[in-house]
Amino acid sequence: MTSGEVLSERKQITGWVFDIQRFSLHDGPGIRTLVFMQGCPLACKWCCNPEGQKHRPQLRFLSIKCVGADKCKAPCVDACPEGAISLSPEGKAVTDWELCQSRGKCTEACLFGARTIAGKRMTVEEVLAEVEKDWSFYNRSGGGITVGGGEPLIQFEFVLALLKMCKERFFHTALETCGHGPWQHLKQISKYIDLLYYDIKHMDPQKHKELTGVSNELILSNAKRVLSGKVDCEVIVRIPIVPGYNDSKQDVGAIARFVTESGGTMIELLPYHALGSSKYRQLGIQYELREVRPPSEQQMEKLRNRVKSFGLKEMTGVF
Ligand code: SF4
Ligand code: SF4
Repeated sequence: MTSGEVLSERKQITGWVFDIQRFSLHDGPGIRTLVFMQGCPLACKWCCNPEGQKHRPQLRFLSIKCVGADKCKAPCVDACPEGAISLSPEGKAVTDWELCQSRGKCTEACLFGARTIAGKRMTVEEVLAEVEKDWSFYNRSGGGITVGGGEPLIQFEFVLALLKMCKERFFHTALETCGHGPWQHLKQISKYIDLLYYDIKHMDPQKHKELTGVSNELILSNAKRVLSGKVDCEVIVRIPIVPGYNDSKQDVGAIARFVTESGGTMIELLPYHALGSSKYRQLGIQYELREVRPPSEQQMEKLRNRVKSFGLKEMTGVF
């Protein structure tokens, strides 16, 4: 195969993407484009992107936009092949989430934007075209692309091809991972990234399973390799701080000890927020952390100091 053929084959690889956000000032240096890959092996109770957890498109129903059958005649009801839509006594659409297969026929029928699909199959070329729109901003600000999700490792071939092509264009590249994937994939992708955000949620395997649905064994074994210099990029360990779940000094201290003993130098603490909670309603999923409030600034400061006491750099607000 010629190099031209390899390149064109690479561009045609497809992946599930549920969002692309331009002009972000988070998740890496400078001005960035964030690419969100769909599908994740974890199901964290606090996940702010639940539409990215399943490796397939997801129907979102925004009840606030539903104008009701008296105004629109409810074409969504007949459009649904699964018979998953009925009408409330007030004439508003009601979705039976058990029956809904997220095939999206109702989204074509609804002219009011009440029903949309999260997740789109895109080629590397299409995503790259979006990312390239802001190349001049990257040049001026030292920014680039950050690939997250969901979990990017589960769409290994797509993410590898995309990052390779971004590197060929000299964009700064970052990846955010939960670390639950094959080491060889992480290692291979790391050749094309400048900055790796590596999430660690809990050191206790049982608690980790309760919070995320999976044990932390694979995550910690990959983390040890990443932190001990087996990848050629900067590594920042991210800890989402969820009150009542992993916000004690012991919880954070245990992760900080693990990071420092494995050879890591940087941690970023991310305070829990409930901004994603409305998305759960739109997807017909129960949000389990309704009672949880964000940690106070005082509590976050204590935890930052705990991280620093291990000689680690705390990275909040650095980029
Ligand atoms: S979801 Fe859309 S089509 Fe269905 S009743 Fe509401 S506004 Fe009408
Ligand atoms: S790892 Fe991230 S994307 Fe996956 S469930 Fe947890 S918070 Fe959501």
